[in-house]
Amino acid sequence: MSESHFHPERFPAAARAAVANEYLQRVLKKATHHSLGLRDEVVKDFPDTWETMRDAAHRIRHFAIDHLDEMLEQLTASCEQNGVVVHFARDTQEARNITLEILQQNHATKIVKSKSMTTEEIELNPFLEANGCEVVETDLGEYIVQLNNEPPSHITAPALHLSRQQIGKIFQDKLGIEYSEDPEELTLKARGILRNKFLHAEAGISGVNFACADTGRLVVVENEGNARLTTSLPKLHIAICGIEKVIPKEKFLAIFLRMLARSATGQRLSTYTNFLSHPSPNRAAGPQIMHLILLDNGRTKIMADPALRESLLCIRCGACLNVCPVYQRAGGHAYGSAYMGPIGAVLTPQFRGREIAQSLPFASSLCGACGEICPVKIPLPQQLWTLRSRIAEGDQLRPAFERVGMQQWRETVLNPARYERYGKLFRLCSRLGLTKILPGWTPQRSPLTPAPSSFRERWRKEKKQ
Ligand code: SF4
Repeated sequence: MSESHFHPERFPAAARAAVANEYLQRVLKKATHHSLGLRDEVVKDFPDTWETMRDAAHRIRHFAIDHLDEMLEQLTASCEQNGVVVHFARDTQEARNITLEILQQNHATKIVKSKSMTTEEIELNPFLEANGCEVVETDLGEYIVQLNNEPPSHITAPALHLSRQQIGKIFQDKLGIEYSEDPEELTLKARGILRNKFLHAEAGISGVNFACADTGRLVVVENEGNARLTTSLPKLHIAICGIEKVIPKEKFLAIFLRMLARSATGQRLSTYTNFLSHPSPNRAAGPQIMHLILLDNGRTKIMADPALRESLLCIRCGACLNVCPVYQRAGGHAYGSAYMGPIGAVLTPQFRGREIAQSLPFASSLCGACGEICPVKIPLPQQLWTLRSRIAEGDQLRPAFERVGMQQWRETVLNPARYERYGKLFRLCSRLGLTKILPGWTPQRSPLTPAPSSFRERWRKEKKQ
């Protein structure tokens, strides 16, 4: 299996490289601001009720997470009644193994996939490829990043970081077709290739946006029709779904579908909403065999954590990425994870461990914009703050000067005489220009400039007069 794309521990260096990349800066700014503009327009459809809808969405998702055991039992029973085979995977390796086993049992090696963050999370493609399968991503953006051997850089816009010239070059190099930078021409060429893959695929693998516990229907939302073909043309369909994607009743979809499309792409409704309920024995409409793999991979651990469990409410709309000043500069790849931006900074340390992803909760200005935009009202800033506190309490702050610095700062603010002495020293250093080299602060910000005299000094002076 090829080396993992995901290295959250490299965030500081990767973010610095991204900030220095002028082209990336331009494209990130344009794309994120464009999405935010579109979203603002369509949210205006609900001038009085958007906040009420957010509250309702929050409550429904919270209920599902609070009753996850019952929800999953109900979902499993409904799916099995519909003829879908349900599996539980505790972790990445189990999910990969179950998928491979199903494919092998059905002699399927040619696979089409529709975009799925959950399969990115478990890095399914390299595993299947290492086991003799051909896996083709069929969402256009996802297909492009797959050709370029890289992971998506955004939850809903996987190739957001690439220009049409770069895409033209990728198509020329990897598909051997004539160079073009015309988006329509490139799309048509990709469509021709993918159509052929659909027709010859022996299995289709998809993610799941919402799994309805009451009816057992799996809902996949998309814009290109590729998920529909992936889940209906091949004889075998495997859906891989994080256990948190369950919602209690299908009737609640109305609210989520409205909010998801608006928050994700600024559309009133996604172009295709696929409802997948049961296999079709005579192949008239859909696959003959359907499997659902419910993936835990750390989710029950998150659920048991009262301070962080609300991160499981996420519906993967990507709005918090677009609005985040850190994502807008660092881009998705810097996070070194399937999940990026504020939600990635919260989920990745929980999925991968705080030691490996300890810099991510600090990749935020705590401006609060992510919490304000989140359609399901996840308190992202508070969660980032909680993770920061835990990392600091665990004494994992790096480098060592930061740990020592924080201890010194604590002792200083608790001791007025010492605070004043250090204040004087700081003002002297500032006058001599020494504060211009404060590590980690001055490269990205204006140097700290203290007032010419402290409040205490001025107070004493005023009292004397
Ligand atoms: S945390 Fe909220 S805003 Fe961010 S992707 Fe999830 S649902 Fe969307």
